[in-house]
Amino acid sequence: METIQTVQVGNVIIGGTTPVFIAGPCSIESREHIIEEAKALKAMGVNLLRGGAFKPRTSPHDFQGLGMDAVKYLYEAKEITGLPIVTEVMSEDHIEEMLPYVDMFQVGTRNMYNYALLQKLGKVNKPVLLKRGFSATLREWQMAAEYIIAGGNDQVVFCERGIRTNNDITRNTLDLAGAVMMRQMTHRPVIVDPSHATGVRSLVGPMTMASVAAGLDGVMIEVHEVPDASYSDGAQTIDYDLCRTIIEKAKKI
Ligand code: PEP
Ligand code: MN
Repeated sequence: METIQTVQVGNVIIGGTTPVFIAGPCSIESREHIIEEAKALKAMGVNLLRGGAFKPRTSPHDFQGLGMDAVKYLYEAKEITGLPIVTEVMSEDHIEEMLPYVDMFQVGTRNMYNYALLQKLGKVNKPVLLKRGFSATLREWQMAAEYIIAGGNDQVVFCERGIRTNNDITRNTLDLAGAVMMRQMTHRPVIVDPSHATGVRSLVGPMTMASVAAGLDGVMIEVHEVPDASYSDGAQTIDYDLCRTIIEKAKKI
């Protein structure tokens, strides 16, 4: 077994002996929404709370997120539940304002090549969850992390979230071998986002089991009390019952 350079987020260790479960809604829809969901997720053994505040939507006419208001709601949910929080930072201009609230900055697939953003995150003393660009090679993904690390921030976790292939039915293709390869190449934690990697609710469970069985360091799953009512990514979002079942099953692997 190779030694992995662990990353600590609040009281949670990523890359240690047990896989980490990150869950939450694609978008934070209101203060009540994220607080109620955080309580439900905490009760089922989720380790880290995710929630989108700044949303990089394909169409500018789609819901763009509640921005800093949502970051503050997420922080409130953390204060109530004790769950450390991770949320996407879309622009270098937002880092400073978000810094006091977040435990981990997420870099989305569209921003993996945003070197100005990565460089600025290299100067921050908070862990970074670096998603793979949907067309990025493993080398490009590794070098994107290098922009953060070279700046002095060594707390990087990789997140495989699916890439574009000739599979025209699922939203993306989960590159499981690529994820395991990255872990072997970098000796850093690698987690999987089975929600964006598939775009299909019924595939989230199977791909979670595969990721944990492959020895990866955790998963990040989109969850909503009423998935079909989600402001974004409803088709890949699972409900509380399924999330609970998936976590229980994955923990037995
Ligand atoms: C997300 O996790 O909310 C997200 C937008 O993912 P990605 O950047 O992988 O599309
Ligand atoms: Mn989403």
